[in-house]
Amino acid sequence: MSEINALFHSLVERLVGPLDQIGSFFDGRLAPGGGAPIALVDPASDTEWLRFNDVTPNHVLSALESCQAGQQVWAELSAQKRGIALHALSTLVAENAEPLAQLESLTSGKGITASRAQLQSVVEIFRYYAGWTDKFGGNVIPVPGGQLNYTLREPLGVVLAIMPWNSPVYLAAWNIAPALAMGNAVLLKPSELTPLTSLALAKLAIEAGFPPGVLNVINGLGQSVGDLAIANCITKKVVFVGSVQTGRRVNAAAAKRPIGCLLELGGKSANIVFEDADLTAAVKAAIVAGFANTGQNCAAGSRLLVHRSVYDRFVDAVAKAASEYRIGMPLDESTEGGPINNRAQFKRIGDMVQMALDEGATMAYGQEPPSGQNGFFVRPTVLRDVHNRMRIAQEEVFGPVVVAIPFDTEDEAIAIANDSEFGLAGAVWTRDIARGHRVAKKVRAGIFWINMYRDMHVATPFGGYDSSGYGRSSGIESLYEYTQTKSVWVPTQVGA
Ligand code: NAD
Repeated sequence: MSEINALFHSLVERLVGPLDQIGSFFDGRLAPGGGAPIALVDPASDTEWLRFNDVTPNHVLSALESCQAGQQVWAELSAQKRGIALHALSTLVAENAEPLAQLESLTSGKGITASRAQLQSVVEIFRYYAGWTDKFGGNVIPVPGGQLNYTLREPLGVVLAIMPWNSPVYLAAWNIAPALAMGNAVLLKPSELTPLTSLALAKLAIEAGFPPGVLNVINGLGQSVGDLAIANCITKKVVFVGSVQTGRRVNAAAAKRPIGCLLELGGKSANIVFEDADLTAAVKAAIVAGFANTGQNCAAGSRLLVHRSVYDRFVDAVAKAASEYRIGMPLDESTEGGPINNRAQFKRIGDMVQMALDEGATMAYGQEPPSGQNGFFVRPTVLRDVHNRMRIAQEEVFGPVVVAIPFDTEDEAIAIANDSEFGLAGAVWTRDIARGHRVAKKVRAGIFWINMYRDMHVATPFGGYDSSGYGRSSGIESLYEYTQTKSVWVPTQVGA
C-alpha cells in the first residue's frame, strides 16, 4: 500500500470507522448502504480510494425516522444545553482539526492550507451559533384590545441539508449549525464524491453530547435520496447548496408538498476594476477571486470587468500572476490550488475553455495540465477578447477560468455586471469612494466587496439573488430560516 493510501486509511479509521462500514450514519452509528457500489476517487491520481454502497429507500426512511425521534429530544432540551453541546462540538472539531483537514484535502483535492483555514472556520461557525441558542426568541406585541399577545420562535422539525463537493465540511457546518442551534434535527446529505468529513462531523456530534438522531448523515446518489426524502412528511425544510439545475429540481419537489427551501446555487460574479484603482492590489485579489480552490468556488470572481484604458496592462498582469499560481498536490503546503475534484468536472472545464476559444476568445494565460500527473489538474486560465453575451461569460465554469471584458463607463460596467442570470457576489476596485458605494448599490448580488474580494464570516448574511438562489444561510438571518413563528393570545382584562 502506498504511503498516501496508508494515511488515507488511518484517517478514515480514526475519524469515521472501519472502511467496510462506510455508508450512512444514524442513531449514533455507521449504517452501511445496501444499494449499488459508489467509488470514491482520489482526484490527485484518478485511482480509487474505496467503495461504499448507495442507500436503499428503507435506509432513507430509517434515517428520517431517527431524525424525527432525535429532534423531539433535542427541542425539549433547554436552549442553554443545546448551546453547550454546540460549543463542545466546536471544541472537538478544534482538537481534530489537523486530521480532518488532511482527510478533506485528500478527498476533495483542496490544498491543505485552504483546508486548515476552513476547519478553523468550522470551529468558529459552531461556536458562533452556540452563542445564539439562548439569545433568539419571540416578542410581546402591543395589540389594541389590551390582551397579551406574544410570539414564540419554534423549530421547524427535521431539515434536509443537501451539499456539494467543493468545500464539504465547511459548507456542511455553515448550513447545519443554525438549524441545530434553533432546535431542529438535520439529515445531512453530502455529495457522494466527498462523504467522509461529514461522517466524521456526525460522529464528533455524538461525542459532544448531541442526542442520537439530531445529526444524521445519508450517503448516496442525489437521485437515491432527493425526491424520496423531500416527499416524506418528516422533512420540514430543504437547504440545498449546488448547481442551478439540481436546485430547480429540489425546489420543484419541495413545492409539491409544499415545504420551504433555502437555495445556494451558482454564480458568475463580476469583479470590476476602474482605471483609478490600486491596480497592484486588484491583480492580487483577481487571482484569489478567480482561482482559490482551483476556481471551484460559487462566489468566484470569474468575470473580470476592466476599464478599457487599463485593460491590456491589467490583463497582462493577471496572466503573469496566474502563471505563477502554484497548482500542486493536496497535502503539499506550498499548493495554492489542488486538482479539480472529479473527472466529469475536469472534462467540463476543458470543454468550456475550448468553447470560449471557438467563440473568439483568446488565451492570455492557460496551458495543458502539468505533465506526468494522472489526476485532474488544470492550470489557471485567463481569457481575453471576451464580450458578455458569449456563453463563457454567462455560464458558470466552476473551475480556474477567468474571462476579461472591457468597459468604457461606470454605467456600462454596471450593465454588464447585471447582464447575468446569477447574482451571488461581486466587487469594485476604485479610489473614488462615492463611486465604490454607487456601484455596490446598483449591482444585483447578495454579497459585494469594495477594494477587496472574498472575505466572508459566519456572522454576516450570505446568499444570492436571481438564479443564485434565495434565503440567507448565515448571520442572524439564518435563525429566521430555521424557526417558525407562533402567535399566542391571552385575555388579560378584568372580567374577560
Ligand atoms: P450538484 O447540483 O451536482 O450536486 C449538489 C448535491 O445535490 C449533491 O449532494 C448531489 O448528490 C445532490 N443531488 C444530485 N441530484 C439530486 C436530486 N435529483 N435530488 C436531490 N439532490 C441531488 O452540484 P455540485 O456539482 O456538487 O456542486 C457544484 C455547484 O454547487 C456549483 O454550481 C456551485 O456554484 C454550487 N455551489 C454553490 C454554493 C453557494 O453557497 N451558493 C457553494 C458551493 C457550491
